[in-house]
This record gives sequence, structure tokens and C-alpha cells, in this order.
Amino acid sequence: MPELPEVEVLRCHLEPLLVGKRVTGFQVLKPRVVRPETPRQLQGGVAGCSIKGVGRQGKFLWLDLAKARSRKTFPLTIHLGMTGRLFVQDSDCPLPGHTAAVFGLGRKRLVFRDPRSFGRVTLKTDSLDQLGVDALSGEFTIPKLMDAFSRTSQAVKIRLMDQQHIAGLGNIYACEVLHRARVSPFSAASELRLAKVKALHQAIRVTLQKQIELGSKLKLNFAGEGKSDGLFYFGSTPGQAHQSRERFRVYGREGEACPACGNKIERVEQAKRGTFFCPQCQAG
Ligand SMILES: [Zn+2]
Repeated sequence: MPELPEVEVLRCHLEPLLVGKRVTGFQVLKPRVVRPETPRQLQGGVAGCSIKGVGRQGKFLWLDLAKARSRKTFPLTIHLGMTGRLFVQDSDCPLPGHTAAVFGLGRKRLVFRDPRSFGRVTLKTDSLDQLGVDALSGEFTIPKLMDAFSRTSQAVKIRLMDQQHIAGLGNIYACEVLHRARVSPFSAASELRLAKVKALHQAIRVTLQKQIELGSKLKLNFAGEGKSDGLFYFGSTPGQAHQSRERFRVYGREGEACPACGNKIERVEQAKRGTFFCPQCQAG
């Protein structure tokens, strides 16, 4: 599932391709991804609109749309779900398998491909309204993180993944930031000392920024037909070295040496998700 860095890299890729374009048509091939509206309602809502921007909060992406002769924008929210891909192609190309929805943009089109149909396209803002502060925004401060950790009995890793408090971290980056900050994933969030919270805040910023920087330099295959190599979530890229595992400190590296101390990285199941950590570096 794409997390904040993957969605931000995608946003930066799409924005220059989409801004200024007009939505000339909208076709839904998998009605399940449009909800709660009907495909017809969404069609009526987006037809003829121009795209003014591409926004992101946490793992959610949206197109800022404006009706003809109107400056007022409104968001069309797109969540990629588990396996969704969003990319621009020439409108005379054959549509790929598992295409869920297609936005006509004249000679080009924006394709939303979603093999598992867990994604969502909507004009409703309920998902965005429920999101907590974006982990990369200026509003994500140490007091905000302290606040997110208060009044809960949850372990810190579980709390970090709660999108209603901090938006953007999923299982991969929660593991990564905890290792960087040398915090045990199993610590009670509400019992973390200020020094640990500060270290985590810093680790979140650094980890996300480094990954976005890396992703923006790589040649990525956004259309992602075929097998994903895990490289920035998108499809495998011919000629691109597989860096999917190399870019992580602990995630997916069970049994390998911790990059900080050399001890073996462990994996345990925590709330049904794999938690990767170094028991030596992340003892407390
Ligand atoms: Zn270690």
C-alpha cells in the first residue's frame, strides 16, 4: 500500500501533466471504486471542469477542479487503496487491464487502474475531513505529536499509523521511523518521554523527506503493468536497479544485520501487521 512518500512522488509527477487540462470525459469501468455517489453523479460533477492543482494529505491525493468560468475549486479525492495506480497516457493507447476509471483530457487521459478495487474516487470530502495533520506539513509539530500520544493505551507504532492523528505513515514507514529514533514499537505511546517524542518527530521528517528525495530521482514506472518490484510501490522499471529493500533500515529485513549495531533485525506480529525492529537499538 502506498504511504506518504509514494503518494507525494506521484503528486509531483502528475501535477505538471494535469494542471491546466480540462476533463472532457469520465468513464467508470469498476463502479465499486466510486462511492457513495453513483458513477453518473460523479460524471456530472467533473465533466467540463478544469484541473487547477493536485493536492495531497497523508496518503490521499486530490485534483483541484473548477467548473467552467468559475474560480472556485473543489477536490476530487482519489485514494489508491492497496494496489491502485494513477497515470497519464495517450488517449489512443489501449486501456490496461483492471482499469477502474478514466478521465478524458483531450489527446491524453488519466487512468486509474486498481486490480483489487480497494481504491476510491469521490467528490465527498469525508475522508479528508477525518484526517489528522499531514506528517510533512508545518502543522506537524512536537506538541501535536505529544498530543497524538496522550490519552491512549495504544503502543506507539499502532498510534503512529492512526491516520486520524498523523496522516501519512503506514506499516513500512512506522517501522522505519521507530528504528531511526531508537524507540521500541511496543512502548506505550502515552508513556514516551519528551526526548523520545522529539527524536521521533525528527525521524518522521527525515525519513519521509529522504524517501521523497530518492523517489524523485529514480526513473519510476507509474503505469506499473506487471509485477511491482516494491520500488516506490510502482511497477518494475526496466533497467532500474532493484532498490526496494536497500532503501529501508529494518522493513523487510528480518534476520539481517541492523545498520546501526549489527544485531539481527527481528519481525513480530503486532496488531496483525509485521513489525520489523532491532531489539538492541530499540530496547526502550
Ligand atoms: Zn541495532
